[in-house]
Amino acid sequence: MRPDAGTYDLEDVRRRIMQTQGGAVDESIPELAAADPDLCALALALPDGTLRASAQADVPFSVQSAVKPFLFAMALRDTDGDALERVGIEPTGEAFDAIKLESGTGRPPNPMVNAGALLTASLIDGGDVDERDDRILRGLSAFAGRRLEVDESVARNEHLLGDRNHALAHLMRAEGTLHVSADDAVAVYARACAVLVDAEALAVMGATLACGGVNPVTQERVVSPAVARDVVSVMATCGVYDGSGRWMRAIGIPAKSSVSGAIVLSAPGRLGAAVVSPPLDEYGTSMRGKVACDALSIELDLHAFGTAAR
Ligand code: GLN
Repeated sequence: MRPDAGTYDLEDVRRRIMQTQGGAVDESIPELAAADPDLCALALALPDGTLRASAQADVPFSVQSAVKPFLFAMALRDTDGDALERVGIEPTGEAFDAIKLESGTGRPPNPMVNAGALLTASLIDGGDVDERDDRILRGLSAFAGRRLEVDESVARNEHLLGDRNHALAHLMRAEGTLHVSADDAVAVYARACAVLVDAEALAVMGATLACGGVNPVTQERVVSPAVARDVVSVMATCGVYDGSGRWMRAIGIPAKSSVSGAIVLSAPGRLGAAVVSPPLDEYGTSMRGKVACDALSIELDLHAFGTAAR
């Protein structure tokens, strides 16, 4: 018998993971540097629409790189799959902001690193920056099942201080792979990273991908089953950057990490989940978040290739 996610004790997991010490909060922008290192929350969203949340699951934080799977999903939807010609899908073995494109093609290596997300965000429909921003925010809100907002000061600082993102956008312009201006690409991506979510909203977003593109809470179809499958596949291979191989072996749940300390999980047909705790390890993955995902994987039998309780 499989363990039941509907009765799983999230407060107990939270208490256990709070005992993990170490790691450091991201300092790339003042808002992230000021994050509360003791914020710690988990949430689960199940295919029947049930939401389970620990304490602090309603505390807002900027989504940061956990937005990348959803930007990829919207790019696939809006380009009718053509985004797959414009961005690679191979893991890089390098950091998320490495100044590197796919050799030979000049494409970003995959949609889960910054180069890829700058590109996928630029492929989402919209005649100008404002229209594209608006469509992204509406799309993310549909994934979350509630109206999300942008933290304007995070967006401003991401844009202002994101030197490596500007460099990547210019490099893609030089390679002919980015078709909007470098500054517009960074502006749109910066706003997407600055969208405020909480653990509960992020869990529903992950669940929408895990449920073939239908939000299990609102029942809205947000993307097609084919898009959801493509996105979850690339989360599995590239979602935790240069730690993706180790992650998949040990935890076995398609995931996306982020510098705000959030991790979004999509276990197809089983659940969506999110955990947030700001102190990060050397790969930019939440220390406590990883311990939580380990516990979820084992205790809810979520490893994609595990056979424990089947
Ligand atoms: N805003 C961050 C950046 O682009 C997002 C990175 C992340 O969460 N890994 O640098």
